[in-house]
Order: sequence, then structure tokens, then C-alpha cells
Amino acid sequence: MKTYLQPEFAVLRDDYRCIRCGVCVGQCSYETHYYDEEEDVVRSREENCVGCQRCAVFCPTRALTIRTNPYEPRPNSNWRREHLSDLTRQAESGGMILTGMGNDKPFRIYWDHLLLNASQVTNPSIDPLREPMELRTYLGRKPDRVEVQGRSVRPVGSPLVTVEAPVLFSAMSYGAISFNVAQALMMAASDFGTLCNTGEGGWPKSLRKYRDNVIVQVASGRFGVDADYLNEARIIEIKIGQGAKPGIGGHLPGEKVVPLVAETRMIPVGTDALSPAPQHDIYSIEDLAMLIYALKEATNYEKPVGVKIAAVHNAAAIASGIARAGADIIVLDGLRGGTGAAPKVIRDNVGIPIELALAQVDERLRREGIRQQVSVLVAGGFRQSSDVIKAIALGADAVYIGTAAFVSIGCTLCQKCYTGKCPWGITTNQPHLVKRVNPEIAAERLSNLLHAWSHEIKEMLGGMGINSIESLRGNRPHLRGVGLENWELEVLGVKGAGI
Ligand code: SF4
Ligand code: SF4
Repeated sequence: MKTYLQPEFAVLRDDYRCIRCGVCVGQCSYETHYYDEEEDVVRSREENCVGCQRCAVFCPTRALTIRTNPYEPRPNSNWRREHLSDLTRQAESGGMILTGMGNDKPFRIYWDHLLLNASQVTNPSIDPLREPMELRTYLGRKPDRVEVQGRSVRPVGSPLVTVEAPVLFSAMSYGAISFNVAQALMMAASDFGTLCNTGEGGWPKSLRKYRDNVIVQVASGRFGVDADYLNEARIIEIKIGQGAKPGIGGHLPGEKVVPLVAETRMIPVGTDALSPAPQHDIYSIEDLAMLIYALKEATNYEKPVGVKIAAVHNAAAIASGIARAGADIIVLDGLRGGTGAAPKVIRDNVGIPIELALAQVDERLRREGIRQQVSVLVAGGFRQSSDVIKAIALGADAVYIGTAAFVSIGCTLCQKCYTGKCPWGITTNQPHLVKRVNPEIAAERLSNLLHAWSHEIKEMLGGMGINSIESLRGNRPHLRGVGLENWELEVLGVKGAGI
């Protein structure tokens, strides 16, 4: 069938600069470029290009420019270019449209409409370069009491896990991401003193040495879950939902299930790894409580157990139930959260922004007097350190980052992770692409990112006259909204600027 689709991107090659080195031919995993020997010229099949920019970055003479195809359909306010091309793709394939990464629709990003306070005259600012500034964060149920014996003070109650700053690497499963990236994330978490989440794909044995910095997931597929997996981790997280695709399961195509992925997930090589939409043993809060306590029992009550849900309309009521079910941590994943693969229709239309869910969850847990029973972790499109500090002021204990971590190691948000051909070597298991990420170098970049954000968070805290991140948690008077409707300010629980 002849396709009626126009290429999404235009590949512009400056023939004067092109030295026919063929670097672009080797770099593009979508076979866009090819060398025409007869004419001694490099040509491009534009219809293959996904706009990942890899060839443009690696071209030694900067001869390539990748642009959105300037082709414009006839203007129509209802039927925009995206609608036309989605309709055409479905008419030609008969299938659901898949995508990767997070929701890219122009929903309001509330972080950009919240402003932070700063000290003036009274309660002076603190200089973080000269005075101690504490970003250390404790995850888990806060102790009910402490026991004092001489000079030693021992908290009594559930175990707490400490991270050096309130930023963790979110759940990204080996199989969906390459081994080298999984390793780099764990190395960076270990170097910096934070935690990295295995996601639902199991935990390769050779990466168990990073056990002090690893959270393991128990998802509906139970991939790789056994007693060692649970006992070697710092925290266990039950995955109920994911922000990028609330209400549906996961699917790792058989092509990505190479021998080590198969061994780690405990499934045959080359078979599709399907995670059902629901956990088949959880149909009520009581069922969830049973799983939480089964996991605590299996780990001798030494590990905090968290529960991850997608941010949906009634997130606050669900979070209250999770806290009462005995979880130590609640993870809220918002609508801009990334994923390796999701149906586009779900990614773009289901869930709510993380800012609104967080504000409501924190408020409800406080109102019910159970906020101290759980830590609240939030995920879903955190782009910069100011987003993190605003989330803490809105009530989060810490933030998970995934997409930002990927960008720091090369990802250009081309959204084609589900193809398994990531040209940046991140979401792929093809050996020649996996090698594009050197774990040591990637870990250094990730660690640099965490250090840079920590410096910035300290600077912002100092400006507010606060010397500890704990003092900012849920401290909404430090936030003011701009350009927001009254109902939005009410949901966020912040005043408008100038009040
Ligand atoms: S897919 Fe990436 S590497 Fe290939 S031509 Fe397009 S921008 Fe270049
Ligand atoms: S991880 Fe790779 S495939 Fe996915 S969006 Fe980033 S560059 Fe594209």
C-alpha cells in the first residue's frame, strides 16, 4: 500500500561541508542515510528519520540539520497536522499508535506558575557556601518514639532509609533500558548517595553489588522476584500504576528479551514479557495490606515497603487507603511521567498533573493525622532543581527523576523508545547500540547532574533563610501562584502572588 504519510522530519545536508565520511550512515539506527557510490554523495531516506539528532551531533563537519518537516497541511483549527497523520497511520496499519516517553501535550505545568519566597531584612538569608545546609532526607514511616541510652539515641519503629538529597532515579526496568544504562544509574546512585529503582524487570546478579542504593519493584508480572531480590534491596516498591499509562499493563516485545533479560526476568528468551494491568491478587485495600505485610514478613520487617500509583482523579483517597494499609512510602506518578512504550491515546488523555495530585494527597494525609506514617515520593516530568524544591514545599518528601536522567546521558526525547533502536543506546538491547553508552562516563554525567541540582537547591533554600530541606516540606506559605485560576490555587493550597 502506498503511504500517504509525509516524512515527519526534513534532513538537510550542506553538500559543501559534507566530506562523505559516512559517520551519519553508521550512527543512524533507522537506516536513514546511505552512501551513493556512483554519484559519490550521501543521501537520506527522510521517511525513516525520527528526529533523534544523533547524526547531527556526531557529524564532524556539522553538515547536517534535522528539522520538523515544513510541510503544512491546509490550515484547519479542528483537524491539525497530528490528527491527520495519526488517522493516516491507523488507516495504513490497523493498529494502536504506540509512543515512548511522557505526555507532550500543552497541559499547564504548574511548577512554572509557582514562585518561591526569599528572605529580606528579618530572618536573613543563609550563605550555603559558608554555613551548613542539610539536604539529607529520610524515607519511610517516621519513628513513633526514640530510645535514649547514654549518648546514643535510637529511633523505635519502622526502618528509615537515608538519601543525601531528595532526588532518586525512578523505576526503569532492565530490558526496557540497556544493561549499561541500568549499571550507570546504580553507579551514580551509589556515588552520590541516593537510590535507583530497578523497575519491574528484575535485577541482574552482576549489579547486586550496588544493593545499598537500590529499590526493587514488585509489579503485576512478578519478573525476577524471589527472596534474595527482596532481601538485598533497601526499599521494596509495589507497582500498582504508572503515570504514563494509568490503568493498563506493560509489554516488553520479544525482540528485547535477549538472554540476560530473560534470565533476569525468569522467562524464556525471545518471548514477550507481559505485565497484566491489575495485580491479580489485589482487588481491595485489604488485599494490598496483605501483600505489604507479606513483603515485610519476607524481609523480617527490615525494609520500608512503598506503593506506587498513577496520579488519577481520586489520588488523595487512594493514598489515604495505602497509608492505612501499612505502606511506608507512597509514590505518585503524574501524567508527564515517561515510559518505554505506551498507547498514545492513553499517554495523552489519562491521569492528572502531578502538582495537583501531590497537593491533595499531602493535604488529606495531614487532615487525617497520618502524614507521618508515610513518605510521599513524586514522579512525572521533573525538569530542573526548581521543580524539585517546589514539590518539596508542596508536600513531597522526595522526587524521582527518569526523563531528566536520560537527557543527561544523551536522550533527545524522540519518543521512539518502543522500537528498541534507541540511537543513543539507552532504551535498546542491540549490542552495537548498547555500546554507545559507557557506564562510567554516563554515571559521571548522572552524578554531576545530582551535584548540580543539590547546589542549586541549597542556594534556593539559603535564599529563603532555611538551612534544612526538612523545614521546607509542605511549607506552602513559601509558594505563591501566578497566572492561575482560583480553583487551581485552592487545589494547590497556595495563595496568589501579592497576597
Ligand atoms: S533518526 Fe536520528 S540519526 Fe537518523 S537521520 Fe534522523 S536524526 Fe539522524
Ligand atoms: S531514550 Fe532513546 S529512543 Fe527514547 S526518547 Fe530518548 S533518544 Fe529517543
